[in-house]
Amino acid sequence: MTKRTGHPPAAGRLMAVLLSVGLVLCAGVPAHARSTGAVSPEIVDSTQRGGAAVALTFDDGPHPDHTPRLLDVLDGHGVRAVFCVMGDHALRHPELVREIVDRGHTLCNHTMSHADVSGWSPERIREELLATNAAIHAAAPDARVRYFRAPYGAWGRSPEVAAELGMRPLGWRVDVADWSTPGTDVLVDRLRAAITPTSVVLLHDGGGDRSQTVAAVDRLVPEMESAGWRFTRPAWGW
Ligand SMILES: [Zn+2]
Repeated sequence: MTKRTGHPPAAGRLMAVLLSVGLVLCAGVPAHARSTGAVSPEIVDSTQRGGAAVALTFDDGPHPDHTPRLLDVLDGHGVRAVFCVMGDHALRHPELVREIVDRGHTLCNHTMSHADVSGWSPERIREELLATNAAIHAAAPDARVRYFRAPYGAWGRSPEVAAELGMRPLGWRVDVADWSTPGTDVLVDRLRAAITPTSVVLLHDGGGDRSQTVAAVDRLVPEMESAGWRFTRPAWGW
């Protein structure tokens, strides 16, 4: 007479399958993402704080000339912003990535080389985003990369992938086309006209001559602060 111990064979096989699936799923998610819990894949374009709040975000850097000047301008006004950095630029200017973090700003993943990921598979997007974070962490090992912004706003499947990796997809509500270098006065006028309460604002510190953008920020921030506006970060949420 035999006595059955443990799981019957069918249940044992099922358990083994479930365990191996669980291990595979867990192995695919980096430890830092697992520990932060779920991040929403919804593209955020507003600040956490309500009312007369605005969040400045700067894309395509870091740039060896414009990023340091922008950092000084922001420091001068006590403003913290988000920098959507490209991995290639982070590898070229690691000291600037560290400077961004050391001065209290927040990092955002903007792909390695400004790729249009809208037609890419989730697997390919995931590789690109992980490579970009690796480039950022080579410069600043302990830095959190809280956001992901798709170049050109061409999101495709990237919001879900970014959220799985612990990064909130970061959109914008205000785009004044600073890359077209229309002049500092025009940029300031456009920003004044376009900014509404809780806006995320898209600007650029890389990808070309951004001296007009830096000058416009230097002029606009004190003007808006004295009118009661607060500069803050975009919503993240988890
Ligand atoms: Zn960009």
